[in-house]
Amino acid sequence: MKRTFSSVIPILGILIAIIQSCTNLPEPHRQENSLISETFRIDLVKKAYQETMSIAPILPKAVNDKRERTLKRQILWEDAYSIKTTSGEKLVVPFTLENEIFVNGSSENRRSYSSMTRLLVSKNGDKYDFQTATYIADYHRDPSKVTKEWSGQIIVENALGDFVDGFYVDNGKVTGYAVKGNPNSRTNILSCFWIEYWSCSYVSYVGYFAPCLFMYSSSECFSVTPAAYSAATNGSGYLQVVGGNYGSSGTGGNPSTQLVDRYSTISKMSVFPQNARNSVNANLNEFILSCLGKSFYVGLTSTATRVEWGIDPATPGLGAYSPANKTIMFPNTSAISPQTLMEELFHAYQDNFYIGGTNQYVLSGRQNIEFEAKLFRDIFGVLEGGTGFSSLTVGPQYNSQYFTWLMAITDNGTKVPSDYSVISSQYFYWMDKFVQANPGYNQPGMLTLNNFTPGALLRITSSSSCLKKP
Ligand SMILES: [Zn+2]
Repeated sequence: MKRTFSSVIPILGILIAIIQSCTNLPEPHRQENSLISETFRIDLVKKAYQETMSIAPILPKAVNDKRERTLKRQILWEDAYSIKTTSGEKLVVPFTLENEIFVNGSSENRRSYSSMTRLLVSKNGDKYDFQTATYIADYHRDPSKVTKEWSGQIIVENALGDFVDGFYVDNGKVTGYAVKGNPNSRTNILSCFWIEYWSCSYVSYVGYFAPCLFMYSSSECFSVTPAAYSAATNGSGYLQVVGGNYGSSGTGGNPSTQLVDRYSTISKMSVFPQNARNSVNANLNEFILSCLGKSFYVGLTSTATRVEWGIDPATPGLGAYSPANKTIMFPNTSAISPQTLMEELFHAYQDNFYIGGTNQYVLSGRQNIEFEAKLFRDIFGVLEGGTGFSSLTVGPQYNSQYFTWLMAITDNGTKVPSDYSVISSQYFYWMDKFVQANPGYNQPGMLTLNNFTPGALLRITSSSSCLKKP
């Protein structure tokens, strides 16, 4: 059973997905010179990293040692940025693995190691120190453990993969620290668990995980921590690595630092690259310039919608919201388009708007949930000239007829339908066309609920300052 709602669009369709798409994504920020901040010169950091890793090939390795894969990093130096933490300035650097491994979990919870791990650089005198921090959310082991703020474990290793430190985070606060390999010590009660790593192959855009093979496991034990330890160290700054966005010293010409930080208001702690945060934030700032986008953003904040974000190449389609995990995942940063972001955020809004959440509509009502999101995106598109509507919502043979309907229910893109009566005569007709055109939402067991009208959409339109129909 697949629980993620996604904007699944066939691969060929991506090229033609959005008629009149003309919104430019912000350029990923580039290092125009070698200086990332006063502390970090990227050329020197790279050199030091290469020296540190030069002994990796001759390290003795145990049987089933995950370092055989995790040390073969392909560092994304161009995406590096620096942040200030309680334990000093750190450079945060995403990377991928030559051969990816996946953290255990049921299929919808499986996540690539590199999507949840960052290389961290700190300066120590005239030397650079390298660590990795891996953020493993509790829901990977227990799907019922989704909390308001992030809960999980942070495992810190040195660049060569030796355990350094670990923290247990409960609802956004550090409440425990890890003891490695000594579960029988005289400390307080320890809770130990295994993290399993699997090798999987996956097909991008389909999201199908081929049968996965067990590769490695490691055990972590956590001790209950005195409160003072937590307060004093705040997890030694590891929470800040993924906690904040702005106030970091990016490289030249980062336009998002001048924008209001709307990203943080709707986000949990997330292992999400800074250029991706900037892209989401720039889009949010763009949305609120329009009456409907503003009402949408207010809807998100007034329902206290907060999501965890991630980039994972194993994400199906262009993006996916999981009502089980409260996550929005993208396969890569450039998939963050206004249309995809709006759809996935709309799913997050639905999840908070509908009593009991939308996980109950994984099968029955799934088509209602999806079509409502597509229709909202398409209404926004025709209202805000330039974004248009998706030609894949109902299938090419119906595009012009669907467009005519969109124009009718918006008075040629000048008003929003604010009452069900405006759309009621053809709402389920178009939902049916959508289902026929998108086999991904026409799977065995998936059903249209004929009395499930688009309440979330109408709440946003009716509370907006837009001109309204009727
Ligand atoms: Zn969707």
